[in-house]
Amino acid sequence: MKIGGIDAFSLIDFPGKTAAVVFTQGCNFRCPYCYVPQLVIPEQYGTLVPMAKVWHFLEARRAKIDGVVITGGEPTIQEDLEEFVWGIKKMGFLVKLDTNGSHPEVLEKMIKIIDYVAMDFKAPLEKYTESTRSTIEKKQITQSISLLLKGNTDYEFRTTLVSEDITFEDFKSMVTTISGAKKYVLQKFLPASPLVDPSYSTKHPIDFDIIEKWKNYALTKIKKVIIRNY
Ligand code: SF4
Repeated sequence: MKIGGIDAFSLIDFPGKTAAVVFTQGCNFRCPYCYVPQLVIPEQYGTLVPMAKVWHFLEARRAKIDGVVITGGEPTIQEDLEEFVWGIKKMGFLVKLDTNGSHPEVLEKMIKIIDYVAMDFKAPLEKYTESTRSTIEKKQITQSISLLLKGNTDYEFRTTLVSEDITFEDFKSMVTTISGAKKYVLQKFLPASPLVDPSYSTKHPIDFDIIEKWKNYALTKIKKVIIRNY
């Protein structure tokens, strides 16, 4: 595992649970609004946290927190993710995985052993390569969505809303794609630096009133929709 950082305690990253957060280094997407360029752009990578230190840290957190969030970067590109997750589970922690959904074959294995998945749903399917600045194929995303919709593992889909990048038509198309989902989180874009694309610091979040209207539309097809301001 390439671990780029650890947060000892979070109340906001694992719904309803206290958690530590482990950040993996490396990502196959280049979302311009991404606020962890140090985990995404190789030239900006920081020093890796040695695995012995990661295990020691988790051992010290045992019985003090409910779970561990594995986020990134993109955790599913790590070769030994499954082994890492098993190690954490054996310590008695719940595990939440944050993913961009680009590796359904990994997600399929993960959902059999983890407790919660947060999958980023970035854009309408036909705009995915453009919005993630990657070579992702549509079917990889649809397979991951389908795994979550049909599976038994608790999950949420989440979308960061940049005013200049997404229209209501885009949003409606996205809601249709995940129609029937248990939970959809609308995340307000925060134009703070550093970002993967520094020019995005001049872009804008969508106004709260508009997000509320979009939320109400989404609620016609999705059971639970929440707005997240961080
Ligand atoms: S926001 Fe995009 S670029 Fe950043 S870690 Fe997630 S998938 Fe990768």
